[in-house]
Amino acid sequence: MPPHHARVAHRPIVRESVAPPAGPKAVISLRAVNRLKLGHVWVYRSDVLSSASAAPGAVVAVTDERGRLFGSALYSSSSQIALRMISSGPVADFPALLRERVRKALAYREKLVRDADAYRLIFSEGDFLPGLIVDRYNDILSLQILTQAMDAEPARDALIDELSKQLKPISIAERVDAHIRELEQLPPRESGLLIGEQAGTVFTMNGVRFHFDIREGQKTGAFLDQRENYAAAAQYAHGEALDLFCYHGAFALHLAKTCSQVTGVDSSRPALEVADRNALLNQREIEWIEANAFDLLKDYSAAGRQYDTIVLDPPAFAKTRKNLETALRGYKELNLRALKMLRPGGTLVTCSCSYHVSEPDFVAMVAEAARDAHKTLRLLERRTQAKDHPILPCVPETAYLKCLIFDIT
Ligand code: SAH
Repeated sequence: MPPHHARVAHRPIVRESVAPPAGPKAVISLRAVNRLKLGHVWVYRSDVLSSASAAPGAVVAVTDERGRLFGSALYSSSSQIALRMISSGPVADFPALLRERVRKALAYREKLVRDADAYRLIFSEGDFLPGLIVDRYNDILSLQILTQAMDAEPARDALIDELSKQLKPISIAERVDAHIRELEQLPPRESGLLIGEQAGTVFTMNGVRFHFDIREGQKTGAFLDQRENYAAAAQYAHGEALDLFCYHGAFALHLAKTCSQVTGVDSSRPALEVADRNALLNQREIEWIEANAFDLLKDYSAAGRQYDTIVLDPPAFAKTRKNLETALRGYKELNLRALKMLRPGGTLVTCSCSYHVSEPDFVAMVAEAARDAHKTLRLLERRTQAKDHPILPCVPETAYLKCLIFDIT
């Protein structure tokens, strides 16, 4: 074989070295060692053979039974994911490493995010900071802490200080998920401002403006992962458009750039109130309907309503692998009804944020719905989450969003 065809040895992120440093250690099973060698970054509790010296939230040296070092991890004493790898070598100063990774995450966004002052600045494993999520909404930052290690005071202090230095936000807020804190056996905490007093601002994505207020309703703020999909949808959208599960109206407002008429539907009145204020902010006329999307689709298709563009962006139907079948039935019902209402030449934008529904499963579900609806589809785009939600190919759990755009014949 000529040299340029020589096989390049697979080099995993996690290297072996000989001497583990002093300090807390965790010994892991051979199965976990093999998983790490393939590039994954999690070790499940059942694969931890000993972690006696590790306090909750500690940075630990990870070794196999023979004492060989595989790197350093953040330890959780309660999560099923007991260890989350953060380095292939020893880590002497975790707050310093955290600061460096915050700066790198910011540089990555500066390289990749266009036409937006709102994006996910830190996406947990995707930015090598497992257990941490930070979103930027113009001059307000919103953070979520999901693990014991990230909740420790030195980590929090370093994070807030580095974010303040780099971005000079007006405020930094924390959104607390009480259930996650309970699972991590962390003391309860309130959501609220950590720095500054301003709770609201206006942010921009693809030239569309949105209100943001950390005191408002849902835990999310905005669905920043759809940012690039909004712009893509707007490229194909035309005629009369329906945005189902519209939340604050992000798809609807993007569709309004090219469509003659846009209707947004959501079951949450507070979400629609924000959507309406967003329409005003962008000087757009959009019809908002408070309804259960399933019922509305049934009524509208029975009444023979037709559309040129339909967006389906429901909440995650499959929260666990166990309800995958039920979830796929839910997705199929929605897609089938939407397809029946689309005119020839129409556009379907259909999304799923359930990690457990794979892209092939999702495509197959739409194909089945199309057969039942007697429609022929052509796949225009197979999309995923925006690039500020980085996907690690060796960590499949980092990829969760599907957004397919079809042309209907
Ligand atoms: N498309 C939105 C995000 C949608 S999130 C965006 O890009 O910003 C899912 C939304 O579905 C939430 O706003 C929730 O209120 C709404 N929802 C959940 N169940 C619903 C139902 N059965 N009918 C209508 N809306 C529903």
